[in-house]
Formats: sequence, C-alpha cells, structure tokens
Amino acid sequence: MFCFQCEQTAGGKGCAGKAGVCGKQDHTALLQDELTGALIGLARAAYGKNTGPTVSRAIIEGLFTTVTNVNFSDEAIRQQVSRVRKEINALGGGAEYPMPSLWNDNEDIRSLKSLILFGIRGMAAYAYHALILGFTDNEVNAFFIKALNAIGENLKMEELLPLVTETGRVNLKCMELLDRTNTETYGTPKPVTVPLAIEKGPFIVVSGHDLHDLKQLLDQTEGKGVNIYTHGEMLPAHGYPELKKYTHLKGNFGTAWQSQQKEFDNIPAPVLFTTNCLMPVKDSYADRVFTTALVAFPGLAHIGEDKNFSPVINRALELGGILRTVP
Ligand code: SF4
Repeated sequence: MFCFQCEQTAGGKGCAGKAGVCGKQDHTALLQDELTGALIGLARAAYGKNTGPTVSRAIIEGLFTTVTNVNFSDEAIRQQVSRVRKEINALGGGAEYPMPSLWNDNEDIRSLKSLILFGIRGMAAYAYHALILGFTDNEVNAFFIKALNAIGENLKMEELLPLVTETGRVNLKCMELLDRTNTETYGTPKPVTVPLAIEKGPFIVVSGHDLHDLKQLLDQTEGKGVNIYTHGEMLPAHGYPELKKYTHLKGNFGTAWQSQQKEFDNIPAPVLFTTNCLMPVKDSYADRVFTTALVAFPGLAHIGEDKNFSPVINRALELGGILRTVP
C-alpha cells in the first residue's frame, strides 16, 4: 500500500506494507485518494460559481471522512464518492484529480500541497461540528473550494506559499466559528472537577468530539437508569453548562484515545464513537462498539442520521454495567 493521508504517516514519507500506522488497509487508502481526487473535481466545477449548501456540505463531509481515525469502511467512502460525483454533474462536470500526480510531483510542490490538504482536512472537522448545529461561514466554505482547486492546479512554490499561510489564517477563523457554535449552544465552558469513579449500574462510554451526539444521547437516556461517561476527546464536554446539567453525565472513563484498545477490552458496557478517534476494533469488544455520523468501521453497528440511540441504550441495559461503584 501507499498512504500519505496524514501527518502520522510512517517515517514522514508514507505508510507502506500491509497496513498503515492507523491500521488502514491499502484498498481503503486508495478509496480515500479517490474521494480526495473527486473533491478536487468538485472544487474545479464550483470554483468562481455561486454554489449552494449541498456543495459545501459534500466538501466538508468528504474531507472529514479522510481524516486519519474517522472512517475505515470502503462502503461508506464509496457512498461519499458517489455523492460528490452527483454534485459535480449537477454543476456541469469537473475533471477529477488523480492523486498520484500529487504524490509524484517535485518534493517542494508536493510538500506545500500536502500542507494545504492536511490543513483543510482538519478545518473540515471543525466546520462539520459547526454545520450540524446550524452554524456556517461563507469565507471558510469558499476557502475549501479555493484550496482544493489549487491542489489540482499546476502552481509554482511562490504561488502555493501564500495559500499555506492563508490555510492557517482561515483555519483560525474556522476555530472561532466552532467556539461560537459551542458556546452559543451549550454555554460558556467553565473549569469543573470531573469524577473518575464508575458508578454501579448500566452505563455507556462516549468517545470522539461530537457534542451534539452526546446531547442527543443524554436526552434519550434520561430517566432510563443508564449513566453516561466520556472518554478521550469527549472530556471537555463536562465544562459546558448545558451538558453538565444532566445528572446522569457522571464523569470520565479511562484515559486518552490511544488507550482505547486496552481500556475497552473488558468493560460491561457499550462504547459510542462519535466523530474521530477510532482505532481498529479488537474482536473482544467489537460487539459492544457503535459508530455514528462520519465514523465507520466494517462490521460495526452504525447509528444513522435519525440518531436513534436505542440499540446502544438496549445494549447497556443488557450488559448491566458494574455491580458496585469503582472509585
Ligand atoms: S491515514 Fe493512516 S495509513 Fe494513511 S498516512 Fe495516515 S496513518 Fe498512514
């Protein structure tokens, strides 16, 4: 395989061999390249036009899908490719970009274009979380198109360098957008003490960054005797007053995302992966893991757009949680 999707790539040169550093397989990496090439085609078709929200959404979700620990499912990535192609056709067509043209380019050009590509992938994650809560920014959306289009162009170093700095500037704007989204939706975060004890009874562990998914799960578990614990990147959720107010949001389970394979091995509870941070799942706990939104892994149960978390809640009740509080 060859994969150069992210900065974690082996030796800074590209993951090769049987699987990548993140556990991605060669066929999945190829499909992610295909999706990126299709997104460049969409940007070419959209560049200079007044396009609508479906184009921005396809770009944001497509880019976020290619972030390292988000999506390992060939089927889900193929669906994203078809959706992007539909948008290209609706705009009258746009040539997709063969990613080997980037990987085989002169090293300075390849480096600058990769920096832009990795930058907008991360930015897409912020933009996605804002978008699902109804917040968006025209400059950020226009920059996704500009940057993707530039990656497909035959540009010189002096033309790409200003784009790299612009990627940094727009990225900060996108972070501001997400900060405003979260504070206007869930209140201004405050420092809080987060309990690490796991209380007796059924529980669900929630990982990833998606506060909207967490809120919907909290609403659906209210009064059902199922406690909720954050894991890894979901820890900051406790600081937001509108999430903290749920008394069954009990605390944090475990440590950081990279410890998930060890920490989820034996717990009598399901784990919900919202956006990002999924590592290849071991057989020992695969029947207790659920994904949602853009996160997907072959064979794992996926909660669809209706956000009906009943299968996760029922699994928590079935597993029963722990018998006595663990300090
Ligand atoms: S996405 Fe995974 S396989 Fe690809 S470069 Fe990053 S770590 Fe390697």
